[in-house]
Amino acid sequence: MLISEAAQYIKSTVPTRAVAALYGYTPNAHGFMVCPFHAGDREPSLKLYDSADQKGWYCFGCHAGGSVIDFVMRHDSCSFAMAVRAIDHHLNLHLLIVEDFQTQEQFHQRQIHIDEEAASRLKDLDDQKKAIEKERDQNFDSLLFLEHIPVSLRTARDWDQTLILRDALDYNEYQLSIIEEKRKKVQSWRISQRLRRDP
Ligand SMILES: [Zn+2]
Repeated sequence: MLISEAAQYIKSTVPTRAVAALYGYTPNAHGFMVCPFHAGDREPSLKLYDSADQKGWYCFGCHAGGSVIDFVMRHDSCSFAMAVRAIDHHLNLHLLIVEDFQTQEQFHQRQIHIDEEAASRLKDLDDQKKAIEKERDQNFDSLLFLEHIPVSLRTARDWDQTLILRDALDYNEYQLSIIEEKRKKVQSWRISQRLRRDP
């Protein structure tokens, strides 16, 4: 079970008293206990709710309140996930088995790895793209220069060079289109990998 699913289950089924009892608190006959969240609470002002339609707690002194998970988070100064794990563990609910947690962690690590891999491939492609664009711009400048020579003054070598440069420019455009294709492939690879759930 995922943390979010376990949290939903805990909030709706685990008695608030059971969680308070983990910390050694017992409510009085009216369901009140001394509030651990504000100082000097001589008259118990924290009420525990355990009815079918209402679960949780509220302190009429310091106005703290919430679900059983909020109680643990506040009491232990811990994260939401840690509180869910603590309740699951201490009340032997077995909602989160260790393997599940490891699988989630592995899944998370794999997502990070996929993003890094994609970013690195995209960077390589960007570097290649910049190099080709630079070469294309140089080829274009050279061609422009040759085409500014009056026709009557052009040598055979100038004509050859013009043809070579035109071919080179076509080839540069082709290279750039290949890189664009590769970029798209990396993007779709990243998405498909991220959506995979199996390891
Ligand atoms: Zn309080």
